[in-house]
Amino acid sequence: MAQVLRIAIQKSGRLSEKSLEIIKKCGIKFGSDERVLKEQASNFPLEFLYVRDDDIPAYIRDGVADIGIVGRNEYDEQAIDLQVLTDLGFAKCRLSIAVPQDMHYTGLISLEGKRIATSYPNILGGILKEQGVKASFVQVSGSVEVTPAVGIADAICDLVSTGATLAMNGLKEVQAIYTSTAVMIGRKQMGSSEKEAILQRLMLRIDAVMRAASFKYVIFNLPEEHLDQVARIVGGMKSPTVTRLMEAGWVSVQTVVAEDTFWDVFEQLKALGAQGILVTPIEKMTE
Ligand code: ATP
Ligand code: MG
Repeated sequence: MAQVLRIAIQKSGRLSEKSLEIIKKCGIKFGSDERVLKEQASNFPLEFLYVRDDDIPAYIRDGVADIGIVGRNEYDEQAIDLQVLTDLGFAKCRLSIAVPQDMHYTGLISLEGKRIATSYPNILGGILKEQGVKASFVQVSGSVEVTPAVGIADAICDLVSTGATLAMNGLKEVQAIYTSTAVMIGRKQMGSSEKEAILQRLMLRIDAVMRAASFKYVIFNLPEEHLDQVARIVGGMKSPTVTRLMEAGWVSVQTVVAEDTFWDVFEQLKALGAQGILVTPIEKMTE
């Protein structure tokens, strides 16, 4: 029987939807919206396993799955010896120190001798050790933010996105010590050349999908005399595509611009007299 690659995805939680979305964009078809434990793609040798995110690294280590998607925080905390295949960029969050509103905080040194409640003793421990700070940990797996109020911790270290939960519990976020995004992880060896080949095909598609997401396709009209300056600003994959317009002295320019520099480029183009700037998303993109 032909081999399939098994991917572990969080069954339901913050990672689930985006994980599946990326794979769908790779043109891989799979079915049911009702969550089964296991299912197979209909047009690609990939099998999905839907599990709790905490279990994913160990499943991969043990060969239950070959690859999986988890938060980098979970991967680093468990310190299971796998490899990060790619950073998927979504599920951005930070691991922060929060203390009671009235506590004076000047830096990690303020935690010396304190009891810190966290679900991330390894990540936090590593950072405190680096800074030469000695503290004790209260390990909890949920509701970390209530521990100071009930008197079992002096401070907490937890994942934060908005900070609203902290404020509700009389805490203030004082320092972010670590940032995380979702990563695709896998064993260092897939165990068969067939699986290695499937993984390579999958990674090529994921790369193309992610590259596309970080660029925009931009089309605009420009006075021809500014073409050289614009070419220097936008670059493009090879160089921008330029077509002449009916109106003398004007050209239409098409190019690809990185999302993170987009507004900079936009302002510079405006300043050079660009008009009718049209921006569209790119669905897939290869080198
Ligand atoms: P499971 O039931 O699968 O164990 P969970 O409750 O452990 O789920 P989620 O809350 O769904 O997990 O979070 C999964 C991952 O999403 C986290 O490990 C983290 O990488 C990321 N994440 C992004 N933003 C946040 C946030 N504000 N709080 C917690 N995790 C976040
Ligand atoms: Mg979990």
